[in-house]
Amino acid sequence: MAGFTQIRTLPGHPGTRRTVVACLILAVIVTVAGCGGGPPQREQTALPLKLRQAQKALEQGNDELSTKLFNSLESPEQPLRVRGLARLGLGRLALRKGELDQACRHLELSRKFLSSGPHHARALLFLGEAQLRRGVTNSGLNQLEKAYQSLADPDDRSRAAFLITRTLDHLGQPVAALYRNASQQHSYPEYASIWGADSQPLEITPRIVEEPTPTSRVTRIANPARIRVQNRNSWSARPPRRGAVVRMTRPFRITVHNTADQPAIEKLGQQSPPQYLRRIQEYCTDTLKWGDIGYHYLISFDGRIWEGRSMRYQGAHAGNNSLNRGNIGIALMGNFDINRPTSLQLKSLRSLLAALCTLHDISPDSIAGHQELRETTCPGRHLQAALNRMVKDLARSPARSRTR
Ligand SMILES: [Zn+2]
Repeated sequence: MAGFTQIRTLPGHPGTRRTVVACLILAVIVTVAGCGGGPPQREQTALPLKLRQAQKALEQGNDELSTKLFNSLESPEQPLRVRGLARLGLGRLALRKGELDQACRHLELSRKFLSSGPHHARALLFLGEAQLRRGVTNSGLNQLEKAYQSLADPDDRSRAAFLITRTLDHLGQPVAALYRNASQQHSYPEYASIWGADSQPLEITPRIVEEPTPTSRVTRIANPARIRVQNRNSWSARPPRRGAVVRMTRPFRITVHNTADQPAIEKLGQQSPPQYLRRIQEYCTDTLKWGDIGYHYLISFDGRIWEGRSMRYQGAHAGNNSLNRGNIGIALMGNFDINRPTSLQLKSLRSLLAALCTLHDISPDSIAGHQELRETTCPGRHLQAALNRMVKDLARSPARSRTR
């Protein structure tokens, strides 16, 4: 076990308490300062008259007039914010008429034009609803969870929470207390058809597809890229300790790590990844008393991708239960504050990220280096820099389809 103490920093980096305290202080300051209320008054008055007329017509149910006015405001010479709000209006009108493809198109653009703030969050709320109605459930849930954090209007927030709670209940998946509590007081019958018998069937969250024989060593992820993953049989993993692992909820984010081992362990990783994986597993289960190795995937120096903890179970890699929820953990073997990841590792990481984003309908902006989540040097400066470029590139990639 010599040289293994360093692995203590691998799954649970120090600094959580400090971060939590800092967050609490920040929350108190924000509350005292009175932020987080409705959109500032001057924002409303700064809107062009025509836009306000269009919004009023929309609220009054005068669809013909509001369509005409919103359409006239959606032209390239208008400021992005006006175009974003016009698309938001057009999206809501299309949603009202049940023209779901059209609604999604408008709302996708609205989300893009209104890059942040409460209006952006409203675009996400309606986009989430439209996607749920189309049966694109995972993506719909992702929009709603993102919207929930930034919505200013209490009714909008409880609508988002209601849609999330009802959909997860319908799928038989666990619901965070936050959403259940926020939606408890309300009922929105206008959403009933989303889960009713006449709605489109809800998609089943895709999972890893195992090769037919149980002794097979390679698993393929069900996606067009056919990523090869060396499964747990290939490194003779022990089964997870029952009772010490919890079921994975719907994955909606990915966190990238480095294993940051001492040189002796790193050498083992280079010589024999299976042996290395067994030692990490041993440490996680025997010393830390965890249910299994913490990461879902690991990438060795030669670029091979290894299955860590089964995706059936929540990982133990980001720092605490809240950060691990719905979070896919990927670790590259190595210490990337000192060394650079190999080109084979980066190539595999990119393919794996692209495949997981497609498979679980995760937006590339939900991919983060561990240090973006909490105070830690992980995944090391060299990997973090490469990851930043990779995420930008993935977001641009036309091959990745957001809505199947
Ligand atoms: Zn980490």
